[in-house]
Amino acid sequence: MKKSDVLVIGSNMIDLMTYIKRMPVAGETVEADEFSMGFGGKGANQAVAAARLGSQVSLISMVGEDSFGEQQLANFKAANIDVTGVGIGRKNSGAAPIFVDPSADNRILIVKGANSELTPAVLDTHLDLIQNTKLIVLQQEIPLETNYHAIDLANQYGVPILLNPAPANRHLDMEHVRRVDFFSPNETELATLTGLPTTSMDEISRAAQRLVDMGVKNVLVTIGSRGVLWVSASTSQLIDAVKVDAVDTTGAGDSFIGSFSHYFAQGETIPQALRHANEYAAITVTRRGTQKSYPTAKEVAKMYQ
Ligand code: ADP
Repeated sequence: MKKSDVLVIGSNMIDLMTYIKRMPVAGETVEADEFSMGFGGKGANQAVAAARLGSQVSLISMVGEDSFGEQQLANFKAANIDVTGVGIGRKNSGAAPIFVDPSADNRILIVKGANSELTPAVLDTHLDLIQNTKLIVLQQEIPLETNYHAIDLANQYGVPILLNPAPANRHLDMEHVRRVDFFSPNETELATLTGLPTTSMDEISRAAQRLVDMGVKNVLVTIGSRGVLWVSASTSQLIDAVKVDAVDTTGAGDSFIGSFSHYFAQGETIPQALRHANEYAAITVTRRGTQKSYPTAKEVAKMYQ
């Protein structure tokens, strides 16, 4: 079997964006200005970013037997992602009704649907994909036990593994976190996970160092327009973001993780891959939308020639 560059094990969602003047109260019907649908879910986003850069990407994910599931599959195939690991569950496809009011305040509901059917047993039916990749990438929109099982399998097969602990609303078992090669929260997730403040750079460094002291190998903290902080037992360095005029930062974190995974799988060193991921994510924040904003390798080359 052909080896993939990046294997993403994670979620997919359809974003249902409704632009409203105000939220209806109970029993009321209100007309909204506009509606649009978009492809989302952290796993899918990260897979698409790596694939746009030219990585051979495989995805293990679950969709429902419905039109959203069909659209997801078509979108993955259009991005040249290998979908042999995408299964069809009994629940509906994951969906996220999002309400945006004129002040750009969001109200978001996440309906995990088929994503909750991505159980540890599903991974056991795709051991070939798990063994034959250069890097496994995880987030936290699927059951936690599945991530733990993925970490166990990756360790067993000697495959590097990255965990993006987003959303960070759960208690993570440090015994498993210690066994990932890259642990990449944003600064808010880092605060939730460590219980420490992460407002200033000093605080962020201290919180990341706390994880390293607990045995985490490489902590990569994404810090929006400030870039990314890499802390390990032997280094602590900030790699500055590229200066741009941001118009929409939705999905920036996913573009960063997906592109870092691509560059790392291509054999770049950690600081090289982080610098390139900063460059990739910077382009995405200058464009509207999530996956829509992710550039191809050609566009990136043109931007930074
Ligand atoms: P999340 O979307 O998870 O909150 P961040 O906001 O930390 O993630 O952004 C991820 C990465 O995207 C950053 O590390 C940086 O490389 C890039 N980025 C985000 N916002 C900006 C910005 N305003 N200018 C330049 N790069 C940005």
